[in-house]
Amino acid sequence: GVGGSYGIMCKGSRCVVKDWSVAYFRANGNAQYEYKMDNNEELDIPEDERVVEMEYGGMDGEERKFVPMIMNDVVSKTAQSIDFNDIVGLNSAKALLNETVVWPLILPQLFTGIREPWRGVLLFGPPGTGKTLLAKAVAGQNGSTFFNCSTATLVSKFRGESEKIVRCLFFLAKHHSPSVVFLDEVDALVGTRGAEGEHEASRRFKTELFVQIDGIVTGGSKEEPCLVTVLAASNNPWDLDEAMRRRLEKRIFVGLPDETVRKQMFTKHVESMGMAGGEGVDDRLMDILADRTEGYSGADVELVCREAKMKCMRRLLEKVDVEELVDATEMESGGGEASVTDEDLVQALEGVKKTVRNVDEYVKWEKKFGCRI
Ligand code: ADP
Repeated sequence: GVGGSYGIMCKGSRCVVKDWSVAYFRANGNAQYEYKMDNNEELDIPEDERVVEMEYGGMDGEERKFVPMIMNDVVSKTAQSIDFNDIVGLNSAKALLNETVVWPLILPQLFTGIREPWRGVLLFGPPGTGKTLLAKAVAGQNGSTFFNCSTATLVSKFRGESEKIVRCLFFLAKHHSPSVVFLDEVDALVGTRGAEGEHEASRRFKTELFVQIDGIVTGGSKEEPCLVTVLAASNNPWDLDEAMRRRLEKRIFVGLPDETVRKQMFTKHVESMGMAGGEGVDDRLMDILADRTEGYSGADVELVCREAKMKCMRRLLEKVDVEELVDATEMESGGGEASVTDEDLVQALEGVKKTVRNVDEYVKWEKKFGCRI
């Protein structure tokens, strides 16, 4: 199973290395094996064994040790299942992402020569507005490998070795291109805070990150453009290191949903929950919910719906005894008590407050640094 995503063809227990002149990998089982393989060489892996680690030629030994960590923790295996259509609203952000990231990756020949490709794209806005969803959808649009990098994986796990992780990361991103390197909470990763008494290690990390990002643009040739895109997200764009901001040339505002979009969100959630009475979604109720949630983020709206579902579950648990509960089919059939009522939703709304209170700051930052076209 592991083989495919590592660029090795694996059919049953048979593996063929496709891309590398030399590859090594190890299988676990009773003993650790180490295989060295030449390009197109085939290898039989015993039934009860699994490839746990692979090393890449052309990478320093010091960096190679991070390959398994990055391939396991950073490469997202679910990215492909998210689609732009799953994301409600955010139409201009989607259009901008198509133009700056998706199309250049699908049709690189169209974009060479017209202009320099964007070095990086920043999605900024309040928390819970869909930035991560957008990044995952971008990767899903063109079957890219999605490298989901958070501060936790890049910095805190291996103190002092972060710059090696970064080199390894970009090596892998090029190898598995087209790929999207997603830097979540980029302000925490490359912020201005602590710049003065900055640790030597964190300075090395920053420098390496910049070198690698710059290398993406200069690294490709006309015939073979390098199809790696750096996509970053930030809830606090004002904390971003200036050198990083410059590299994230395209800055896309991902704002709070307006009333129309909130109505679509509620409708989508409620449709998937099933309402009491089994009739379709009550359009008037959706209007009321949308109207009462001015300033709520997409994540807040989702929380309201989850709370409503909880209320309905609690009611069910109070009334029904455990033995009856075991008969789960009754719950699924949408019989009265398991269904969310209008009252559940309205009450849930009262308990869930909006989480974003500094919208003005984002608008101000957008005026200064954002781009709409
Ligand atoms: P961010 O990265 O901006 O903090 P996420 O993309 O992680 O936010 O969104 C958090 C959750 O909120 C998502 O998993 C999703 O359920 C919901 N959500 C937020 N915005 C949207 C949207 N525009 N469409 C659909 N769901 C959304």
